[in-house]
Amino acid sequence: MKRRDIIKILSVAAVTPPVVLSASAGHAAVITDDNVKDQLYKTRKPNQHHDGDIIAAPEKVGPMSSALKRLKRLQDTVGYGNFNVLSFDQGIRAARQYSRVGEFTRDELEVLEEIFYGEAAEYGFLGDKPVDELTSRISRRDIVKIPRSGHFLYKGEAQKMFDKVRSEVGTSLVLTSGIRSVTKQMYLFLRKASRYDWNLSLASRSLAPPGYSFHGVGDFDVGKKGLAGKNFTSAFAKTDEYKKLVDLGYIKIRYPLDNQLGVRFEPWHIKVV
Ligand SMILES: [Zn+2]
Repeated sequence: MKRRDIIKILSVAAVTPPVVLSASAGHAAVITDDNVKDQLYKTRKPNQHHDGDIIAAPEKVGPMSSALKRLKRLQDTVGYGNFNVLSFDQGIRAARQYSRVGEFTRDELEVLEEIFYGEAAEYGFLGDKPVDELTSRISRRDIVKIPRSGHFLYKGEAQKMFDKVRSEVGTSLVLTSGIRSVTKQMYLFLRKASRYDWNLSLASRSLAPPGYSFHGVGDFDVGKKGLAGKNFTSAFAKTDEYKKLVDLGYIKIRYPLDNQLGVRFEPWHIKVV
């Protein structure tokens, strides 16, 4: 699909949810949308709806929602680990092959392409796009599965860095997310958006849209063993494991506190590329 054929998937949120009005009325009244302070305020409260947030156009919600459910069934069918590195074409083929997943419909494929080839900056994500093809593949020859994690890393720099970090911080430091294919990132992004009234701005404050994630090209996330889901919250920044990471110095955080890319602080995300 060519750029000019892509139908707009976006519409500005007509009504700001009431709960947000009471929480952020003071800020909203004095700060404009293109103001940096406003951007920082939003990324400090990524899971709140903010004035000016962009939501999916109503006619796109149906296909986005059914595509999300199909992606979930696809993950359940091919397995969590395989799904992490499943290319878009492989996903389409597998969906067709397994009747419990079912073939992606035309409308679903169209909306997934629109999301991938759309400009994420339009809804507030200002980071780079390291993966520019929807059908980009991850070669099994280039990756290694990390035992007991369900995740893969690229051989070379990423694997070396993970081994080094682990040997210096200790085995209580675990891999919580490695390589993520376009398919996986699409699933995560849609899942996040679906939980917040299809607010794409909100979703993109804590999850890079598909194509924009550096998990596609080498970055990975680490956490403290046993901390589970809390590894993806500020709780991780309070752990000894995190403090050691900082002390070691060679770890570069991709999305530091108050970055200007429209992304929340992610102390667990390790920059490799
Ligand atoms: Zn990450």
